[in-house]
Amino acid sequence: MKNIPYGRQSVDQSDIKAVVDVLKSDWLTQGSKVKEFEKALSSYTGAKYAVLVSSGTAALHLACLVVGISKGDEVMTSPVTFVASANCALYCGAKPLFADVDSVTANITPESISQRINSKTKALIPVHFAGFSCDMKAIKNLAIKNKLIVIEDACHALGASYEGLKVGSCKYSDMTVFSFHPVKSITTGEGGAITTNNKKYYEKLIMLRQHGVTKSLTRFINKKLVVNPWHHEMQMLGFNYRITDFQCALGLSQLKKLNKFIQERRRIAGIYNKAFKNNKFFDLPKEVSQVRSSWHLYSIKLKDKYKNKKAKIFASLREHGLGVQVHYIPVYRQPYYQKLGYKKGLCPNGEDFYKREISIPLYPSMCGEDIKYAIDTIFKVFRQVV
Ligand SMILES: *Cc1c(COP(=O)(O)O)cnc(C)c1O
Repeated sequence: MKNIPYGRQSVDQSDIKAVVDVLKSDWLTQGSKVKEFEKALSSYTGAKYAVLVSSGTAALHLACLVVGISKGDEVMTSPVTFVASANCALYCGAKPLFADVDSVTANITPESISQRINSKTKALIPVHFAGFSCDMKAIKNLAIKNKLIVIEDACHALGASYEGLKVGSCKYSDMTVFSFHPVKSITTGEGGAITTNNKKYYEKLIMLRQHGVTKSLTRFINKKLVVNPWHHEMQMLGFNYRITDFQCALGLSQLKKLNKFIQERRRIAGIYNKAFKNNKFFDLPKEVSQVRSSWHLYSIKLKDKYKNKKAKIFASLREHGLGVQVHYIPVYRQPYYQKLGYKKGLCPNGEDFYKREISIPLYPSMCGEDIKYAIDTIFKVFRQVV
């Protein structure tokens, strides 16, 4: 019986060796690999700075903290995302707002953002769903007009590009957040990063990930205590959001293969596009001209008349060994958010997208036989069920 997941990591011997080398060394954490991976990541994305942390969720939390999001503020994001994109506002005592999405890309639209901005709105967190960049130019223009911070949630989009620049360059944002969870473009097990071109944010992020403590002479508040060689200062309330050196060794080794991974994802997506072209059951993901996707997900959308068959189709695909998944139940439809008072109907396009979406298997090491099996099985199941 086949069991093909919707996504998975690609770890090879060179990755394993890189990790083992660090395990044999003196520094399992706080060694040189963190800085090395940060350098490689900023060079890959084109941003001036990169800060590595323990997860994408930690990255979102610190990005909100560093711009001073706090009680009384509102932060606008997508309902079609992992809960962490909105939870980061709650961590800071702020209120998440949800803009509605485009019905094709499931990315928040400048029109909806613009309608819902109010005097308390302080930041926008656009999510690049499935690896397809949001309309960042328009979003940045709105942010400038309304004096808002822009934090890109690019957890799906490492390796994607927008207007020819890598996502994470921060040309149209203040910060960009990535995740290295095993289903994402590259993995460190758990891990995440923030890229930015802002030196002040960078320096503060470095402190916040480490309890708010600094050992940097030039940053000390108690200048007279510099004479004590052990001197260090806790200047703000931070966290232990550090990532380990052996994780960064894995990340460095993975990053070298990122372009190859994306190429493979793109190739498989191309096979799907061809096989499913003009089918009568579901719509396909589409790249617009200024966007090159990282193809984190291959997201199919059931035609309107098959929406009410989704549970049956999904269950049957699973029974046939396809580890399909649904991305996502709209965040504000979760019980925790319902209790906070968010109402059904808040984002009609997001809710409709949820009713239609199924993510089918796509990952770089997916073999030809499995791709063919997935295509044949999907046709078979749809013909049977609808
Ligand atoms: C994976 C993901 C996160 C969280 O990343 P973790 O590393 O799992 O904490 C946040 N936002 C989106 C859109 C994600 O897909």
